Amino acid sequence: MIRYRALSRRAAIFTPPKRGATGSPSQRHMKFEHWRTALQWPVAIVFVLAVVASVPVLATDADTWKVYENGYFKAFSNAEESDALEILRDLEIFRLVSTQLSPVYIPEGALKTLAVIFRTRREFKQHSPQNQVLGYATFSKNLGIIVSSSSDRGIEARHVIRHEFVHILQLYHQARLPNWYREGLAEVLSAVDIQGREFTVGELPGWRRNRLSKVVSYKKIVRDDFDLTKQSIVTTGADTYWQCWLLTHYLLFGADDNLKRKFVTYLTLYNEGVRSEDAFTQAFGFESAQLWPKHLKAYASRVPTYRGYYDRNSADTEFSIENAAASELRAILGFLIERSSN
Ligand SMILES: [Zn+2]
Repeated sequence: MIRYRALSRRAAIFTPPKRGATGSPSQRHMKFEHWRTALQWPVAIVFVLAVVASVPVLATDADTWKVYENGYFKAFSNAEESDALEILRDLEIFRLVSTQLSPVYIPEGALKTLAVIFRTRREFKQHSPQNQVLGYATFSKNLGIIVSSSSDRGIEARHVIRHEFVHILQLYHQARLPNWYREGLAEVLSAVDIQGREFTVGELPGWRRNRLSKVVSYKKIVRDDFDLTKQSIVTTGADTYWQCWLLTHYLLFGADDNLKRKFVTYLTLYNEGVRSEDAFTQAFGFESAQLWPKHLKAYASRVPTYRGYYDRNSADTEFSIENAAASELRAILGFLIERSSN
């Protein structure tokens, strides 16, 4: 049985670093040391096996699959080794940077996060609950699972897995977060630019640039029933992820103290069960439809960025590499297929 430190039910607000902040040595030290406990891994796999023993599995040419492992992640991938390693090393460095950006952490005794990185988008789709998404995060018991593909080489594949890792942090945190903020925060954090031992947060997500050709009313975006995954840029001409990023950015970095306090009130009300649209009006005192014309339109052209430093030596980028055991692989892929068809 895994024991968890009591988790705060308080809504998560991430505190931006001061301009040019370097982070105190204590902040820089890993909150995640304790997360190295890997002993429970076999237990989780046995659980997964038991659930999916009878499920047919696609795309398991076991020979092509490898297992990559460091102190925090265990990843299964049939991608080219160099692609998988590039994605995973970036994820490990991002994990380290994220400990400086967010108070949300993976709790004591948690298992290593499982990542499944498919070589092709087609294989990913066979193991995804939704057709529109590029990656997803899920939980099985106490095991956080990220699923993505390596087919978009370079920045996009790295961005997707970072984005899903933020969702893993959010899943651990357990606060009830509005959809737009859950996605907006994942976009703001995952777009962090890391160069050497320096990082810049607040930048536009590179591959989502120039996407404000059509703006969806924030009245829609703030609502509880707004489903981002149904808002494909191809069919609607709008990128609502971009808009979630902008609103999150504004409330974390651009708003004055008064507005930031209102934002905390909004998150608190939402976490207590108030509908997002009602919590918004109650907390902010204006309608969410006013966000674009009164606040965000001008802000979109002058978004600030912040710099910070992290201890690159703490990054555990030496992943061990082994061939995947066929039984373990079948269990994991079978589990994903079963989860996807629900
Ligand atoms: Zn997301």
